Amino acid sequence: MRLITFDAGQGSRPGVGLDAASILDLDTALTRAPALGQAPFGSLHELIGRGAAGLEAIERLLGMAASGELDAAKVPVAEARVLAPIPRPAKNVFCVGRNYVEHIAEGARAQRIALDLPEFPVFFSKPPTAVIGPGDAILVHVEVSTTVDYEVELAVVIGKRGRNIKASEAFDHVFGYTIVNDVTARDLQRRHGGQFLKGKGLDGSCPMGPGIVTRDEIADPGQLAIRLWVNGELRQDANTRDMIFPIAELIESLSEGLTLEPGDLLATGTPSGVGYAMRGPQFLKDGDVVTCEIEGIGQLVNPVTEVGAVRRLA
Ligand code: MG
Repeated sequence: MRLITFDAGQGSRPGVGLDAASILDLDTALTRAPALGQAPFGSLHELIGRGAAGLEAIERLLGMAASGELDAAKVPVAEARVLAPIPRPAKNVFCVGRNYVEHIAEGARAQRIALDLPEFPVFFSKPPTAVIGPGDAILVHVEVSTTVDYEVELAVVIGKRGRNIKASEAFDHVFGYTIVNDVTARDLQRRHGGQFLKGKGLDGSCPMGPGIVTRDEIADPGQLAIRLWVNGELRQDANTRDMIFPIAELIESLSEGLTLEPGDLLATGTPSGVGYAMRGPQFLKDGDVVTCEIEGIGQLVNPVTEVGAVRRLA
C-alpha cells in the first residue's frame, strides 16, 4: 500500500491512496470502525510503530472503503496537500555516502583525485529540521552556500526495532521505501573536511516523499530505476542494482551496536550525474524545479528558492 501524510485543512494526518482521485483518511476511518480495536494513528510514524496490527487494520479499512462503507473518510486528492511522509523524524535521517561506483568515479574526476572505493559503508546524517515535503522549496541559503546540488536516493523506512541485525534478516526490519533528495552544499561539504553533516544538514536540504510504499509492494528494491531531472533535463539515470553495499548489508553495518527503531530512515546513496561533477558544474538556482523518480515509488518534485541576500566579496 501507498501511505502518505497529508493536510486537507485539519493539520497533518496519515492516509492511504485509494486511486488517482482520492485518499482514505485513516484516522477518520478508524473512528468509524471501532470493531478493529485500533486507536487513531495520529501520524505515519505512530502507524509504523504499531507493526503488523496497524497494517492489518488498514487492510480491513481498505476492504470497507471498497464496499462503500467509509465514504465519509475519503478526501479528494485535489483538496489535500501531501507532506513529507514523516515530516519530523524522531532522530536524524541516516544517510550513506559514496555507494555507487560511477558517482565516486565522477567525484574523483571532478576533484582530480584517485578513485578510492570504500571498504565499509560511509554513514552520515541529516537533522530533522532539514526535512521538507513534495512541492516545498529547496532553499539556497545564498549567504551560506552558492553551490547547492541534488542527489536522488532510495530511502529505507525501518519498521522493527533491532540491533546487530544480520543481513539475512534485514528485510524483516524494513517497513517500506520512500525517496530522499540528499541536497548538498558542496562548498560546506569540502570546507568542513572529513565530515558531511554541515554541507548536508541545512534547512530544506532533505526533500522526502511523496509517500511510503510498503515492503510487500516492491519485489526487489535492488532492481529499481532511479532518475532525477532539473527543469526537465535528465541528470541522473541509474538503477539501485549498482549500489556497492546493498540494502541488507547497509542495515547490518549500521545496526552494529546501534539500535534502529520504527520510523528511522536510511537514505542509501546517490548514483552519478550530480551537478558539481558535470563538465561545467551546474548548481541549483532560484526557479529551478528538481524531479526525483524511483520505479514503483513515484515522483518527488521540488522547486528551488534562494533565500537571504547574495554574498558579496569585500
Ligand atoms: Mg547522498
